[in-house]
Amino acid sequence: MHEMTEAEVLQALKEARAILHGHFQLTSGRHSDTYVQCARVLEDPTLTTRLAEAIVAALPGDSGIDLVAAPAVGGIVIGFAVAQALGVRFIFSERENGAMCFRRAFDVPEGARVLVVEDVVTTGGSVAEVVGLVREAGGVPVAVASLIDRGGPKAFDVPLHPLLRLEVDSWEPDSCALCAEGVGLYSPGSRRTAK
Ligand SMILES: [Zn+2]
Repeated sequence: MHEMTEAEVLQALKEARAILHGHFQLTSGRHSDTYVQCARVLEDPTLTTRLAEAIVAALPGDSGIDLVAAPAVGGIVIGFAVAQALGVRFIFSERENGAMCFRRAFDVPEGARVLVVEDVVTTGGSVAEVVGLVREAGGVPVAVASLIDRGGPKAFDVPLHPLLRLEVDSWEPDSCALCAEGVGLYSPGSRRTAK
């Protein structure tokens, strides 16, 4: 298991075009010079495996993880890769009528030490729901691991181990310097490519 520095993770994410620089309209309507599309990393199984091994290498040595659990959809691929690196079982949660739950006969054994994995954590609302599900089932949520921590307060109460901390500034369109300079604006939903 090889550790990666935050600089190495940032470089890998940029090369995978998971982090783009340019002029973007976010779903909030605000503008930013940086856009994160973490799924681009997960297109590359070799890179995903390398990042998953870096997540495992960065966990405290006494974590003793028995099971990895991830919220669908964002956490599934990286969660599976982390479980593979740890050599443990993997389950995912999904929403049913709005409520997060473990379907498909997925179960958490009594007392199992569980690592919750997500691709990008901002407030961690979905992660907090998975932590709650694990506790309800009698498991022990030991920690949360993610590729990226977008910063800010978290909705869960176990330690977070992100590979990269990335706080991205955004601003209202009428105070956007890139708009003032006439730089082309891209909406992430569009199919146009951005640099
Ligand atoms: Zn702008």
